[in-house]
Amino acid sequence: MPTVRSPLAACIDIGGTKALLGLVDPAGHILARERFGVAADYRPEELAALLAAKMRVLAERSGCRWADVRGLGYSTTGMLDGRSGMIFTSPNQGGWRDVPFASILSAAFVLPVRIEMDANAAALGEAWLGAGRGADPFALVIVGTGIGAGLMIDGKVLRGWRGTAGEIGHMCIQPDGPDCNCGGRGCLESLASGPAIALRARQALAHGQTSILSQAAAIDAELVFQAARMGDALAQTVVGQTVAYLSIGLTNLIHLLNPEVIALGGGVGAGGADLLLEPLRAAVASRVGPWVDLTGTRIIPAEQGNEAGLLGAARLVWTELEQDQPL
Ligand SMILES: [Zn+2]
Repeated sequence: MPTVRSPLAACIDIGGTKALLGLVDPAGHILARERFGVAADYRPEELAALLAAKMRVLAERSGCRWADVRGLGYSTTGMLDGRSGMIFTSPNQGGWRDVPFASILSAAFVLPVRIEMDANAAALGEAWLGAGRGADPFALVIVGTGIGAGLMIDGKVLRGWRGTAGEIGHMCIQPDGPDCNCGGRGCLESLASGPAIALRARQALAHGQTSILSQAAAIDAELVFQAARMGDALAQTVVGQTVAYLSIGLTNLIHLLNPEVIALGGGVGAGGADLLLEPLRAAVASRVGPWVDLTGTRIIPAEQGNEAGLLGAARLVWTELEQDQPL
């Protein structure tokens, strides 16, 4: 294989059970990538050593020179401070508390490191090469197992005081609504996430409503969407409720941030885009008052899919690390 000669960013997007590794050039081309399963019980030093070893093998196998790798961008679940490189909590990785993980990664990779929350990294990726190009402010709303957002203003991620800005999944939409994973009630996530969609369908079935879903062994959001496309009334009602809840969340977001573009991503957001987007635009338009410029906020699908986080991790290397030190 010919040797690739370009400055490279080593990039990692790690979720609850899987890690995506990549080597990305300054134009956003992913020159090599690998996805593999990651157990949840690693200590920080063990995980860093494993990832560093995997990344070096990936570089070797794909003809990339390690000497050309300028830095590591790392996207992860959990609560963290990208500025200090500290992970406060990471429920998917053995219950870590207050881990200076950027320093640990830097020692294992022998590279400068930037870390970022997954939604923020995905927003950076979409703003760089996807649905958010040229939009300011830009919001990426990710609807999947949970609901979160990455918010960008003036080309920078809005992190907030302790790094938790963008947690729109925990905006209260229905004060007496269902319990949420966060301990609250009626949060957007408890009403419009994938598990919430499946739960409402199961509850409607339990109340005796007829549906083709009653023949299914297990119901998830994807199955509800499939049934809705086939004209199933129960599934279409559940989708309609989901649109209504999401429209309240997005309306709140529009009033708070006045974004130029809101991109909808995540397993539910992308998988159900054909069912959700048009009615969502109409519902938001009916909720946002006429004194707000309705034509100003476009609600569109995210474009980068599972690669948004990886590209955002590369963006961290090509922008934030570049500002700190010449690469
Ligand atoms: Zn919540």
